[in-house]
Amino acid sequence: MTIATLRIGRVLHGTTAEGPGFRSAIWFQGCRIQCRGCINPHLFSERGGTTVAVDTVISEAVDAGVEGFTLIGGEPFDQALAGGALARAAQARGLGVIVFTGYEYESLKNRDADARALLAATDLLVDGPYLAESPETVRSLVGSSNQRFIHLTERYATYRPELVANRIDVRILADGSIDVAGFLGNQQLQALATATNARRSSRAGHAAAIADATS
Ligand code: SF4
Repeated sequence: MTIATLRIGRVLHGTTAEGPGFRSAIWFQGCRIQCRGCINPHLFSERGGTTVAVDTVISEAVDAGVEGFTLIGGEPFDQALAGGALARAAQARGLGVIVFTGYEYESLKNRDADARALLAATDLLVDGPYLAESPETVRSLVGSSNQRFIHLTERYATYRPELVANRIDVRILADGSIDVAGFLGNQQLQALATATNARRSSRAGHAAAIADATS
């Protein structure tokens, strides 16, 4: 049992849009990197979102029957202590761990003990900042061509992002809004909301009024 808590923008148990298989995705709240053109600027503030206990998230993921976790941001390594506790607890339950970070692997290896502990409990690291001037055109899950898939264990060794199409996970909520996970640009999100006459669309816990068919 761990008493660690995370500050998150959102958690989604049971998505196929954030990596291989059926996953629990956690959007960490807070990012000190703040890449130009990031599609999740609502996750920049370290004072936003909500707090959740690591044990709670692990229990929910196990109950959902997922294959593993995807930690995404926001920036997981800006909460490396709690992120490491989550990743270790996940692996102890037999779950895989994929971490997206805007930092580069080489700098994380030479950072502090918390960062190294999170790395030690990561199966697949996707690293590097989003560079708007270098868009990715082939590989799924990443936005710019500098970002790397670094296998720290063999767990996802057969995963080939260049052979897998991006997927999105769209949920229509009772209030008529749509909630989206997966790699979708702002223009695409707006087009989807308009096409479905959604009252609102949301991404990673952030809701924005886009279209309202009833007004
Ligand atoms: S590191 Fe990730 S969350 Fe942070 S600004 Fe860059 S793309 Fe956005």
